[in-house]
Amino acid sequence: MSLPENLEKLSNACGVTGREEEVRTLLIKMLKPYADQVVVDKLENVIVLKKGKKNAPKVMLAAHMDEIGLMIKTISKEGFLQFTKMGGIDDRILNAQKVLVYTKNGPLDGIIGSKPPHIQKEEERKKIVTYDELFIDIGAESKEDVAKMGVKVGDPVGFDSKYAKIGKDTVIGKAFDDRVGCAVMVETLKLLEKTDCTVYAVGTVQEEIGLRGAATAAFGIEPDIGIALDVTVAGDVPGVREFDTTVKMGKGPAITVTDSGLITHPKVLRLLLDTAEENKIPYQLETGLMGSTDAARIAMTRQGVPSGTISIATRYIHSPVGMLSLKDAEHSAKLAVAAIRNIQKSF
Ligand SMILES: [Zn+2]
Repeated sequence: MSLPENLEKLSNACGVTGREEEVRTLLIKMLKPYADQVVVDKLENVIVLKKGKKNAPKVMLAAHMDEIGLMIKTISKEGFLQFTKMGGIDDRILNAQKVLVYTKNGPLDGIIGSKPPHIQKEEERKKIVTYDELFIDIGAESKEDVAKMGVKVGDPVGFDSKYAKIGKDTVIGKAFDDRVGCAVMVETLKLLEKTDCTVYAVGTVQEEIGLRGAATAAFGIEPDIGIALDVTVAGDVPGVREFDTTVKMGKGPAITVTDSGLITHPKVLRLLLDTAEENKIPYQLETGLMGSTDAARIAMTRQGVPSGTISIATRYIHSPVGMLSLKDAEHSAKLAVAAIRNIQKSF
């Protein structure tokens, strides 16, 4: 399957942080044809091994399977669901969103509701409605009704957005953070064919709440080099200063120089830059952004692992629907493949 076909499937799947099963099942199916071994570790990361030559460097690729979302916290006696946030979500984007509540019987449609503006006081209208004042309405009439519908405290809730192509190379959908990284990882293994390096392609869990899956996966693998495949903020929309970020959608993979958790190892930075230049792959450099990726955690494993990040510039990340350029995703896979081929030269 092509990268866009994989991205569509992965984007539409549910994988609210800590509940990545549906994404993992898909990812295993997509990666299996290129794998010598598939293991799901105890934290439920999926680790796909592609063997290289004996004593060759071990490369860990990481793309996180989880997405930001919500979790049911309390159920009111009138049948409304109150929730907590899983991952970094701006409260201002929550109101009036369509969501899916994932119950043991399957997903239920819901709407995030709040006190209607018509009956708010003047000063209330000026305030941001925070998540603890919002609720999910699934059309239930009572707490008992909610129970009958199969909803339980702790059920994950995802945004209800469907993947769509809206331009020649432009697509929209939910959870591009980090399903596009997952799709790029599949494409990387597909294009890689034979390699000297041993490659571990890892779909990590619980990245959005603190890079947790990457920690255990990297400890187990003990890689010589780590590369995270993730998204970054595209700053090419009104109101963003050049100083805040220069990364733009459609201008090639973003190579992180620094973020809040990682200073890219000089050898890894050199490898990625030289590889991009040699192969005429367009790229952008990113510095000083808040937030981080699995690479930050991989880098701090055991005695340290030289690590870096290849990111896809995505608009509206951590919201119900994002936008990206398929060209950037394709170029990211090409860059990852070419970098893996170059590793033995530089490590
Ligand atoms: Zn991410």
